[in-house]
Amino acid sequence: MRQDQVEPDQHRSARVCAGAGEAASGPVLFDAVLLDRDGTLIEDVPYNGDPEKVRPVPGARAALDRLRAAGLRLAVVTNQSGLARGLFTEERMRAVHARVEQLLGRFDAWLVCPHDDGDGCGCRKPAPGLVHAAARKLGTVPARCVLVGDIGRDMTAALAAGATGILVPTPVTRPQEVAAAPQVAPDLPAAVAEILRRQAAVDPATWRPADSGPARRAGTVLVVRADSAGDVLVTGPGIRAVAAAAERVVLLCGPRGRAAAELLPGVDEIIEHRLPWIDPAPDPVDPADMTALTARLAAVGADEAVVFTSFHQSPLPLALLLRLAGVRRVSAISDEYPGSLLDVRHRVPAGVPEPERALSLAAAAGFPLADHDGPALRLRPAQAPGPQVGAPGYVVLHPGSAAQARGCPPELAVRIARALTAAGHRVVVTGDPGERELTAWVAGDVAVDLGGRTSLAGLAATVAGAGAVVVGNTGPAHLAAAHGVPVVSLFAPTVPFGQWGPWRVPTVRLGDAEAPCRDTRAARCPVPGHPCLSGVEPGQVLDALRLLGVTPPVRPAPPVAGRDSGVPAGVSIGGSSR
Ligand SMILES: [Zn+2]
Repeated sequence: MRQDQVEPDQHRSARVCAGAGEAASGPVLFDAVLLDRDGTLIEDVPYNGDPEKVRPVPGARAALDRLRAAGLRLAVVTNQSGLARGLFTEERMRAVHARVEQLLGRFDAWLVCPHDDGDGCGCRKPAPGLVHAAARKLGTVPARCVLVGDIGRDMTAALAAGATGILVPTPVTRPQEVAAAPQVAPDLPAAVAEILRRQAAVDPATWRPADSGPARRAGTVLVVRADSAGDVLVTGPGIRAVAAAAERVVLLCGPRGRAAAELLPGVDEIIEHRLPWIDPAPDPVDPADMTALTARLAAVGADEAVVFTSFHQSPLPLALLLRLAGVRRVSAISDEYPGSLLDVRHRVPAGVPEPERALSLAAAAGFPLADHDGPALRLRPAQAPGPQVGAPGYVVLHPGSAAQARGCPPELAVRIARALTAAGHRVVVTGDPGERELTAWVAGDVAVDLGGRTSLAGLAATVAGAGAVVVGNTGPAHLAAAHGVPVVSLFAPTVPFGQWGPWRVPTVRLGDAEAPCRDTRAARCPVPGHPCLSGVEPGQVLDALRLLGVTPPVRPAPPVAGRDSGVPAGVSIGGSSR
């Protein structure tokens, strides 16, 4: 079946919906690096109040100096419950920190939680308060920070604030914490190298040195992302980067990504075509269809093409058709030898978040993100949500997924809807037209059922008005990220969380990261009972919402550090000289 269509009437949107809290700006990924203290910067000596016992981890000083030289600001974020327990004094702690700075150089900020587990503060990791406070003190926002730590609490705090997390395990780090981490590095120097590599891969300065003259201008550029809605959404930053320097951007997408393509700023025209080497349920290759597609591509008149793919897809079949269509310059990521099919053959290591992967290809092709733009998912301005949902602040529960293995088990979704309602949340259940039966059952008589009643744009509008979204690894998670709406991610580990988790938005990951479906890329769960997610309890979803600072509007819960809260009470700035 061929579906060729061009819509030239999509005008470029000048205004886009910025993610919430983007106070700092610019195209670089990270402004600051936050470091856990014990086990990450220095060897863990429990409740240490003795400066003589401070021992940096191997290579720490040189690694930190690399970050300083790159212009990154540094802060320490550390739980010190020994203060609450009276095991050492604040004076002794300051002496320890002075010794740390003597050995490792100065840090721009020290953020210490002096509380214990029972204190209910908003700063003790895994709560995100220290990350919020550190970002503010360093003049940036959590999304532009990366936190390096050695245990799951560090990663949870980072993600709950919307920061990037890198885990450096020690012998005491639990295997499930390693499995659940968005990224893992063997030691601190390796984590630093990875931060600098990710930063450089998208930094305009890497690809457009200051002395290289004016930024390049391009005519018509064909960009390609041929799979599902979520895939198209995470390619958005890369497409915006191309659009910043191109006169006209034509996006080739598949039928499953069409609605998402229409939401992306920077896209002037859309061509829809099912590519049999990308589509998950392809028809046999039809020579007439390929001939028609080649003619269609030639008719675009593109000067060049940037072919975006996921790590398991090949750009080369399309690159061949683009050559046949007369496109002179083709850029793509390809581990396979491309011969003369590609002019820019870009390589990206495994594990990179999909949006960064796309941004790095765009940059390598000569299209770094514009100075006025930032590394975030963005959409065209949302329409107003339908009147059924009521005032903003509801929780969207999206139980389904095009891939069953990545959806929430229906019985669990029913229990989550009831638990959220009982806790005072207003719940809106969303789903595709094919999921009406599911959403009706999940919503029951406790929630608003929008299943099958919205377009993708309508779903984006509904998500934009939400206080949080509870969703599996599927498109609406990325809609939430684009609107800065916190996500409770019921994440089946069939693909890596670090690549496909919600990008740069406050997130709590739930589910068993070590389940047997891990890294299988299965569309249907290969394990009886869907155990990676069926073990999640609704109470965990409520806890996750509290961690994200999303409280029910009708029944206020005890205060916690919200995503917009100030420095949580009790954060002491325990630096040696500040
Ligand atoms: Zn605290």
